[in-house]
Amino acid sequence: MSEPNQPSNDGLPLEALSLRITNYLACTKCAAEIATLDPPQSLQDYSQIDAGFTDWGVQIWCRRHQLNIVHIDFQQQRLPADFRRLELS
Ligand SMILES: [Zn+2]
Repeated sequence: MSEPNQPSNDGLPLEALSLRITNYLACTKCAAEIATLDPPQSLQDYSQIDAGFTDWGVQIWCRRHQLNIVHIDFQQQRLPADFRRLELS
């Protein structure tokens, strides 16, 4: 068993498999548009985002505006990734 917030040999600590996002990635156009929506809608509900691996790393794409939000370049490094699914039900 690993210590909290410390990586284990099996990957990230279990608590990292629940929602741990501290800074959301958002399309600036979507963020501007939600300010004018009636009825109001959250950016999370309004966004239509694709996320996935590319030849360079990981890309976050705004499907609504067909634009790049961020493309993270792994610079040919193979980074550890944890694809285990934690179900809370
Ligand atoms: Zn957008």
